Amino acid sequence: MKPVRVCFFPAAFFLTATLLAGRTGIVWPTPNTAFFDGKPIEAFIQPTASGIVESGLYGGVRNGGARFHEGLDLFPLQRDRQGEPLDPVFAVMPGVVRHVSTLPGNSSYGRYIVIEHPGETPAVYTLYAHLRAIEPGVAPGAAVARGQRIATMGRSASVMAIPKARAHLHFEIGVRLTDAFQPWYDAQQFGSPNKHGIWNGLNLMGLDPLDFYRRLRAGGVADFQDYFRQMKTAVRLRIASGSRLPDFVERYPSLRTTPVRAVVSPVSVVSADGVAADEVGGWEIAFNETGIPFAWTPLQARELADYKPGEARVLTVDEALAKQWRCKSLAVKTRGQWRAGGDLNTVLALLFGPR
Ligand SMILES: [Zn+2]
Repeated sequence: MKPVRVCFFPAAFFLTATLLAGRTGIVWPTPNTAFFDGKPIEAFIQPTASGIVESGLYGGVRNGGARFHEGLDLFPLQRDRQGEPLDPVFAVMPGVVRHVSTLPGNSSYGRYIVIEHPGETPAVYTLYAHLRAIEPGVAPGAAVARGQRIATMGRSASVMAIPKARAHLHFEIGVRLTDAFQPWYDAQQFGSPNKHGIWNGLNLMGLDPLDFYRRLRAGGVADFQDYFRQMKTAVRLRIASGSRLPDFVERYPSLRTTPVRAVVSPVSVVSADGVAADEVGGWEIAFNETGIPFAWTPLQARELADYKPGEARVLTVDEALAKQWRCKSLAVKTRGQWRAGGDLNTVLALLFGPR
């Protein structure tokens, strides 16, 4: 689709990608300034057909709590004569375009863009979905600046058509679970090919974007590093995964709780207390209430001596947190014993491969 020209709007309208303070310079992904003006969520959140405004927020907010929504749905301010949205979509931070899906039928995201942000710690991704048009030059490998127009808001989708009145940007911020996504995908036998490589939504875990923006604005966090550090532990478990370093930990080294004192080779871990790469037998991992593995501590093989290879044991469960979203099964109790729930097992399968 031909990109919509915007020159008939006052230029200032499109330059209002408002910057937040803090070490993380992040702008809002649309020209709507309502969040920065302190207006209620009704001033920028697009609800589902239910009309319940919370349904456009992040969390187990769909179908009476039965379905999880990984991002924010933001409505447009400007429409053309046909009622289609005209709002530009901005890259919220500098980054590198990793994935552009131009055929709406290929994903429930419709047309979407994923940008990785290597300047951030951890190097989170942002995702922009249901786009109407993608700007020329926005292609994998292209660098984008903060506030750069990358697309036009729309309502593209594969299966569930989005009516004009509910056109919106679906916006995500999160982390990617694995480089070895394809083998996991193949094993699921979904019956349709993966057209998005490692940037398939099933390989992405979003955090709550509005919570991040709010806490950044309030000064409670200065950047993503702070935000991840302040995540609360819903489930803590140990896994005997062997000495192989999951690519997740290589990609997001700041999520290791034990500082790295020396690196022998690019894939070696030597923790402060002297766990050498070949002595690592597994990990103790803290997951937040949505199952994001946000804190990783390497364990020596001898600390896992009574574990079977690949075995995972739940150590602690914060029941209130773990059950915050009833559509997420993080831990289940059988005969008085906690074990990983279905959603946590999926995360583990993606992080460590088949066990
Ligand atoms: Zn959405």
